[in-house]
Amino acid sequence: MRVVVNAAMSVDGKLSHRRRKQVVISGDADFDRMDAIRAENDAIMVGAGTVVADDPSLTVDDETRRAARKARGVPENPARIIADSHARCPRDAQIFDERAHTYLLVSEAAHPTRIRKLERKGVTIITAGEERVNLTSAFDALADHGIESIMVEGGGELIFSLFEEGLVDELTVFVGSMIIGGREAPTLADGEGFVAGFPKLELTNVERMDDGVVLSYVPAKK
Ligand code: NAP
Repeated sequence: MRVVVNAAMSVDGKLSHRRRKQVVISGDADFDRMDAIRAENDAIMVGAGTVVADDPSLTVDDETRRAARKARGVPENPARIIADSHARCPRDAQIFDERAHTYLLVSEAAHPTRIRKLERKGVTIITAGEERVNLTSAFDALADHGIESIMVEGGGELIFSLFEEGLVDELTVFVGSMIIGGREAPTLADGEGFVAGFPKLELTNVERMDDGVVLSYVPAKK
């Protein structure tokens, strides 16, 4: 499984403001770059926090890219993957519409009735972990469904867990020329935070884009 994390943050590392509503951090060129990465991958992933906050559709915007995918014999849109331990995402969220197939990663604590209702909508449920989704096991199960590459868009809780479990193969982050501030505002990597064994990264590219910069990293060799 290849996992690429892509996000946009302010200079002070925030993904959005303290009320956790979407903030436009990048511009047209970065949206286009993000759309291209979406189209290249088998699936696009976010955490339940992002679904609740932003109600994203996680689909490919550009028609030519969708047509190119079809010509390659894969669905127009990549699959969608949501980490949602208790199946709390609203059932009318866009991630459950018919534009793409959706995998919901849940834990054993998710309520069976909610799961049955989602299955009836065509959602594939993958159960991994007792109280919280065990991402490593869930990714193994996704590989069995033919998912070989995942683009993760956030948010900070999910990105932290992916680094914690050593699952990130590449990180690209757009740094927008703005300050958001706020100790409660989500950052690129939230969770519990590391106090030792900080994942080290190797900077592989720097590119000016819109009114910001795109930084690309891979995990540093140990
Ligand atoms: P998030 O990372 O999208 O979702 C976190 C939730 O996912 C957790 O609370 C947890 O909820 C669920 N989850 C299940 N298994 C998990 C695991 N193993 N590790 C971590 N999470 C797991 O939420 P967030 O950190 O609150 O981020 C949302 C914010 O980020 C919003 O403000 C959104 O606008 C912003 N955002 C910005 C960008 C950007 O590029 N600027 C991109 C995406 C999102 P359960 O315990 O209920 O399962």
